[in-house]
Amino acid sequence: MNPELQTVVGIDLGTTNSTIAVVQNGELVIIPVAGRPTMPSAVGIDPAGKLVIGQAAKNQSVSAPENTVLSIKRGMGTDRCVELGGKSYRPEEISALILGELKRAAEEHLGHPVSRAVITVPAFFNERQRLATQDAGRLAGLDVLRIINEPTAAALAYGAGQAGAGSKETLLVYDLGGGTFDVSVVRVEDGIVEVRASHGDIHLGGDDFDEALATLGEERFGAGKNDISAALPDAARRRLKGAMEKAKIELSDGPFASVREEYLTGTGHLETEIERREYERLIEPWLHKTLDCLQRALADAGVTAGELDKVMLVGGATRTPFVQSLLMEKLGIEPRHEIDPDLVVAMGAAIQGAALAGQPAPAILVDISAHTYSVLAVVGHGLFGEELGCCPVIRRGTALPVTKAELFTTAIDNQTTVKVEVFQGEGERPEENLRLGAMMVEGLSKVPAGNEIVVQFRIDLSGLLTATATEKRTGLVKSVTIDTAGQHRINLDTARGNLAALFEDHAPDRPRLVVLDPEDGDAESAETATVEESSILLASAKSLRGRAAKLLERGMAESDAAAVRASLAEIAPAIEARDWHALQDHLDALSDLLFYLED
Ligand code: AMP
Repeated sequence: MNPELQTVVGIDLGTTNSTIAVVQNGELVIIPVAGRPTMPSAVGIDPAGKLVIGQAAKNQSVSAPENTVLSIKRGMGTDRCVELGGKSYRPEEISALILGELKRAAEEHLGHPVSRAVITVPAFFNERQRLATQDAGRLAGLDVLRIINEPTAAALAYGAGQAGAGSKETLLVYDLGGGTFDVSVVRVEDGIVEVRASHGDIHLGGDDFDEALATLGEERFGAGKNDISAALPDAARRRLKGAMEKAKIELSDGPFASVREEYLTGTGHLETEIERREYERLIEPWLHKTLDCLQRALADAGVTAGELDKVMLVGGATRTPFVQSLLMEKLGIEPRHEIDPDLVVAMGAAIQGAALAGQPAPAILVDISAHTYSVLAVVGHGLFGEELGCCPVIRRGTALPVTKAELFTTAIDNQTTVKVEVFQGEGERPEENLRLGAMMVEGLSKVPAGNEIVVQFRIDLSGLLTATATEKRTGLVKSVTIDTAGQHRINLDTARGNLAALFEDHAPDRPRLVVLDPEDGDAESAETATVEESSILLASAKSLRGRAAKLLERGMAESDAAAVRASLAEIAPAIEARDWHALQDHLDALSDLLFYLED
């Protein structure tokens, strides 16, 4: 069949960024645009008079705002035209340029024309706004098969509707982007996904946080030796805002961010540091507003927080840990964020596109941390002295690989040593969790209590956790690596050595099993083993196969299931060939795999 007709792309046409995805050979693919997974929703005319779309347009938005159009989505469904290169354009026309650029990237990537698409819109878009989006698609040369709601797309990406008949789920989608916020209650029944209620604020998002940080920076700049009587000039203010956005993003993974902007005005430099707590206090009023919207959406849908089965995060600004912890506190349910919140809507649109093209829905595979990893610290003072608690650094459900850091402080004056103890588990108290290990950080400066220690955890794809502690004021570093998957596992090489020594020292008196070479039916082959050894191996094979079958039945990530099947496939030939050494190796490998999966 013609690949063009088989392909239906999914497009998230966003206020700040847009993304295009497709299901290709059963797999979900995010199509890169100019080498990046998302493209800024920006259009401009560059100094040479050329039309620029995407990153190039965003880049020039600071130096040439008058020749750049941003956030055109806000104007969709209105007659509000924008000026570009001395001419006036309707929002549909600007959106068509963005869609056209995405289409071009898809055609380049897929190697054939792309003419059919599913495009997402916010749940609150009215009919006019939806029609305007459809028209923008048409102008870009796309047959828009369906316009779907963004929260529906997010729910589809998280597997909603795949359970089929009889399944019922109530989901909450919390979407905090650069410039807009909305929260929706989504009901899934018998495979049908429907938005029950949606509330939001089309002027609330990460941009507000950047603005607030820029104001803070401006105050610090003014309060320093730089004598600015009024606000910063526009260009300097825009630069500062850009620097603050970077700092904000840093604060999602670490406890503080340093900002250094040289020559912000004439000879004036800005050098400052922002702590996460300080940033959280700054953005708290906006986040409380989002929680009010959430409450209204729940009320409109007639649902209580306790009835929610899943909470899903969408939009770049939901990477802010404070957003996640506030939601957890409010709803009592851990929000899901393992699928990239910038890509999840386009993924859902592509899944819908594949369904319309008659293709099976792909499963989205992501590696996530199965546990929370924390550091033991003093969390308060009770009747009996200091209370110790586990302070999370990496939370359960975070996509891997990941690096996160938190700030801790020394508890007493002139404390030159701290013990960093690492725990795994969701409990707040250490006795509820598994202690993974500890390291001593020695040689700290003799200073009053409150000396800052940055503890950073990194977990790679194979589950290795590297904990690093750094004394902030001196940069003194100490680090240790812990195998989170294999904490209490036996070292197989050591165990094999022990058993071999046992057999040597206490050789049992038993008959040897003679294996006939199947080729010539002749004498002893190299693969001999005692009858007992071989029957132990066969029993162990039977038990491992049983465990594997149970696990496969229970379901697991497709990549894990494939690994188990591959491992199982090696066992039968080894038994058939009576190759006991090979069988032992294959059983060890399967046992390792099951140990990890059964955990
Ligand atoms: P979106 O509109 O979904 O593309 O979201 C863009 C917003 O997310 C912008 O305000 C970004 O600054 C913000 N953002 C992106 N990454 C992060 C991060 N790691 N932490 C906090 N905000 C982020």
